[in-house]
Amino acid sequence: MDHVRAGAACLSTRRLLLCADAHVPVGGTPLDYEEMARSCGDLHWAGEATNRAYPCTVDGAHRTGEREGAKVVRKLRQRLRGGNVLARKQRDRKAAGVV
Ligand SMILES: Cc1cc2nc3c(=O)[nH]c(=O)nc-3n(C[C@H](O)[C@H](O)[C@H](O)COP(=O)(O)OP(=O)(O)OC[C@H]3O[C@@H](n4cnc5c(N)ncnc54)[C@H](O)[C@@H]3O)c2cc1C
Repeated sequence: MDHVRAGAACLSTRRLLLCADAHVPVGGTPLDYEEMARSCGDLHWAGEATNRAYPCTVDGAHRTGEREGAKVVRKLRQRLRGGNVLARKQRDRKAAGVV
């Protein structure tokens, strides 16, 4: 993670600083993390709360960013390939005199 800048703060001196972390509530299951990670169409979710294996950590959050980034790249590649196939079919139809 050499591209991530890190900083430190002494939280014990900050009277108004509050914190929150994702947690599985009573009645929930660890599978809830996976539900949180489920993409909605082209909308992707990253962050520690979407990482069942490493929740509540910077490392876990970072991994989910890479996970979702990879999904987006995969989708874009598929769409580009699909677009190329469509363009080729149109060219073939034109060449064959079919409009
Ligand atoms: C006091 C404390 C100490 C910790 N110590 C450690 C540690 O030592 N090691 C470790 O690995 N982890 C530690 N953690 C946990 C770690 O900080 C988190 O798990 C990690 O930062 C989560 O990253 P994230 O990207 O999921 O969410 P966040 O870092 O919370 O990022 C979410 C971002 O979304 C922004 N946001 C929220 N709502 C909106 C909105 N409506 N519109 C636009 N932006 C919005 C927020 O401002 C925030 O910048 C600590 C956490 C706390 C609170």
